[in-house]
Amino acid sequence: MTFLGTGGSVPNKFRNLPSVLLRRGPEVLLFDCGEGTQRQFLQARAGINRKMRILISHLHGDHVFGLPGMLHSLSFMGRTRDLEIVGPPGVAKLVTSVNQVVKFYSDFPIRIFEVRPGDTINEPEYKIHVASGRHGIPCLAYALDEKPRPGRFDAAKARKLGIPEGPLWKRLQSGRTVVIGRRRLSAALVVGPQRRGVKVTYAVDTRPCPTIIRLASGSDLLIHDSCFAEAASKKAKEYGHSTAAEAAYVARRSKSRRLALVHISAMYEDATPLLREAKAFFPHTILPQDMETVSVAA
Ligand SMILES: [Zn+2]
Ligand SMILES: [Zn+2]
Repeated sequence: MTFLGTGGSVPNKFRNLPSVLLRRGPEVLLFDCGEGTQRQFLQARAGINRKMRILISHLHGDHVFGLPGMLHSLSFMGRTRDLEIVGPPGVAKLVTSVNQVVKFYSDFPIRIFEVRPGDTINEPEYKIHVASGRHGIPCLAYALDEKPRPGRFDAAKARKLGIPEGPLWKRLQSGRTVVIGRRRLSAALVVGPQRRGVKVTYAVDTRPCPTIIRLASGSDLLIHDSCFAEAASKKAKEYGHSTAAEAAYVARRSKSRRLALVHISAMYEDATPLLREAKAFFPHTILPQDMETVSVAA
């Protein structure tokens, strides 16, 4: 995951507006698309013609003003593959109405899906669960939850058993039995136990709340709103955001393995006090800088 923009509301010298890039094999997912995301996206070398889905949390400007520019530039740079945009009701109107006025150039099909809390996006290898945060306007949080992956294939053992490399290995890897002469060889002989998939939760612009705790349950990485330090907790309540300590509380309650603090208010040039406050509750907390990449494993 590459944190393209870790600021919130307005950018400052150090932090761009919200966007997190997830690279999963040949595919890319983008959580939010604040103004300036396209430049960060290019710098991250995410590729312009991959399978791509942009997931929008809500329709506050700091999370969506980068969308028209992103679509325009992707097309300019030669994207031909369709692109999917997922977001709350209103996101389709946003894209089409900007396009009616500005006529941004887009040579590839754009498919827009408006989703609601409780919806699930189903892919062969993972699901994305949608839940509601607690903010001034409807705000969605997303959890990408990989399905269990097949166990590791023990090539050395397969060779020892005299199974020739090729289609038979493939059969075994997919869990089927193969027959060589009079021998029936089951997959369990050479394939290890199923491996747990990775879970990543993205929840910004929200007060700490039970729906997010449930959504994030058992996440390998929870990316959570952490707009303010404790000293500004009144502001967090007033504007529908969380303090770093509240983000840590959600991480602990949801039994997440790691917490990343994002949507840092522009008033903090140095956000290390936020990191300190979160770590007091939840030691496995990180404070990513813009363009920082972390890998997430099960
Ligand atoms: Zn925001
Ligand atoms: Zn907001």
